[in-house]
Amino acid sequence: MWCPKMAGSLILLCGWGIPAAGASGVSLPAQGAQYESLIGAIRQEGLNRSHIAEDLRYLADVIGPRLTGTPAMDRANEWAADKMRAYGLSEVRLEEWYFGRGWEELAYSGRMTAPFVKPLIGRSVAWAGSTGGPEAGPALFLDTGELGEDDPLAEQVRGAWVLLDPAERDRPFYENDMPLRWTDEEVLRRSVEVPRTPEEALAEEQRFRREFASRRRLAGLGARGVLRRSRFRESLGWLESILGEEIPPEVLEVGGVEPLPQVLLADADYALVYRNLRAGVPVTLEFDLRTRLLEQDPLSYNTIGELPGTDLADEVVMIGAHLDSWHGGTGALDDGAGSVVAMEAMRILAAVGARPRRTIRVGLWSGEEPERLTHRGLFGSYAYAKAHADELERMMVYFNLDQGTGRIRGIWEQENAPAARVIAEIMAPLSDLGVVGMKPGFYVGSDDITFAEAGVPAFSFVQDPMEWGRFHTEMDTFDGASIDDLKQAAVVVAVTAYGLAMREGRLP
Ligand SMILES: [Zn+2]
Repeated sequence: MWCPKMAGSLILLCGWGIPAAGASGVSLPAQGAQYESLIGAIRQEGLNRSHIAEDLRYLADVIGPRLTGTPAMDRANEWAADKMRAYGLSEVRLEEWYFGRGWEELAYSGRMTAPFVKPLIGRSVAWAGSTGGPEAGPALFLDTGELGEDDPLAEQVRGAWVLLDPAERDRPFYENDMPLRWTDEEVLRRSVEVPRTPEEALAEEQRFRREFASRRRLAGLGARGVLRRSRFRESLGWLESILGEEIPPEVLEVGGVEPLPQVLLADADYALVYRNLRAGVPVTLEFDLRTRLLEQDPLSYNTIGELPGTDLADEVVMIGAHLDSWHGGTGALDDGAGSVVAMEAMRILAAVGARPRRTIRVGLWSGEEPERLTHRGLFGSYAYAKAHADELERMMVYFNLDQGTGRIRGIWEQENAPAARVIAEIMAPLSDLGVVGMKPGFYVGSDDITFAEAGVPAFSFVQDPMEWGRFHTEMDTFDGASIDDLKQAAVVVAVTAYGLAMREGRLP
């Protein structure tokens, strides 16, 4: 027996009679038969009437890549808001924040013309500059990227395409060594990852500054542009969108500096040019790069919606994911997947007529990816936390989804075992769907950092790694999405958020 969609209805339950499958041995929170039958309804709705495939395909294949500050990102914000309204959420809105200049890549072509002719696989780095049509010049490798004042190399830089990265190999590359799925034992094993120390963050910032300064110097010396080696995934044709470098504030600001053209070449193509240069063989390259800085609207937006609470409505359980992406692929996995799972979890809860005691809110952030010297991305969630600072005290928990397409296997402890254990208990009835429990250790996450820094208990789910290698590459496309895994994830998120929203008392 199925109870049809009752979003906004006053009817609490209509007797589904669907057993909460998967007795796990871990006791359910004492929430009674009504609670259990709602969990059953969430499973049915999420596994049998999912909108995941349709929503993710539209976001990735029709809206496409969503760099912060672009019209595509704005379209994604509007689309997500329309979906949330159609799914029966309340208080659906776009909240603006100041970002700066957006950037689009319009065309790329690149080839080697000597010692033989070969088209080169590559793309512009995000926020890099254009050429004025096809520009040919010699390839030049600079050991450090830093030139002394009267370095004899300075003369050679004029008109050259400059390679900055060494490309020696100690072994050929064969296989990504990430496991596809965690075993149950791996989920429960302590992770040794530790968050970056402030000293490490400072050292990295200083390195970014040096590298940016040396690229500015190359521009001043008349270099045509800079070539970088794409190493994130070493297979031919897997290109990073960016090298984990900051976007200089001078480039982001409206009216700021024009950036130097900067190309990422597929590892094998880059290494071919590099080996020839090291062997003293002259190499000539030609690139035609068209990119565009967008100045019309320096604002960016987060899309927010919620399922209102009842007697504890001013306490909030929040789910978040970032809707923005890099430009190489279509951002289907990073983080279209998390965004669609968050939306789907909300849709499921509305569809089964859930009436949580606490408000369950969803935030789809922009500005997670672009890094600036002042902050490592996370700009959208940071703007939200700042604008809503007086409400954060009443935020019971924040859950972040930014790990791609794998099903959820548990919850990261995040140095808050008492709270994580409560969350793991709420997830326990889903053990038949692959949920194992609490993973000891710390996950260095994304927008959850914003909320953790603001004092909100913030968690990421443990997900099977699957295709993490596609993140930030042109292979971040819908093809990499495992729809069944994402259906499971939406059910787990919906049950977890609902369980916490119904809980007696807040998290320890
Ligand atoms: Zn991400």
